[in-house]
Amino acid sequence: MEKEKKPSLYHAIKLQCLYCDKTSLLKKGNFLEFVEGCPHCNYKFEREVGYFSGASWMITYTVAALAAMISGGIMIWKFSDQSDFVIAGIPAAFGGIFALLFIPFGKSFWMYVDHLFHPLTKADQLDSKGN
Ligand SMILES: [Zn+2]
Repeated sequence: MEKEKKPSLYHAIKLQCLYCDKTSLLKKGNFLEFVEGCPHCNYKFEREVGYFSGASWMITYTVAALAAMISGGIMIWKFSDQSDFVIAGIPAAFGGIFALLFIPFGKSFWMYVDHLFHPLTKADQLDSKGN
């Protein structure tokens, strides 16, 4: 590779290609799936099968659990007169919804951190069919 590209955290937060900011990471009409790769940079986003499973386990679930714990603390602190079902149910629902909405951001942050430590190589390039 001629000049080493650096991934951008700002582009990752915007759910755009980490290098060129021209390609959306998300498939059209699907909030949870990423496209194969960036045609401008010619690299594939999912480096190997199961690449994003670490994003789910280490980032998304952790953030969702923190959101549920914080909202649970707020429920106990501010709404302690409510029933136990409400005090437990609202944080559980909030954590689940937050996890669902956070999935693409967890994946893009996972990619960003991975690319900081493992820069692009020839093996990361899309083939002629875009795979
Ligand atoms: Zn790109």
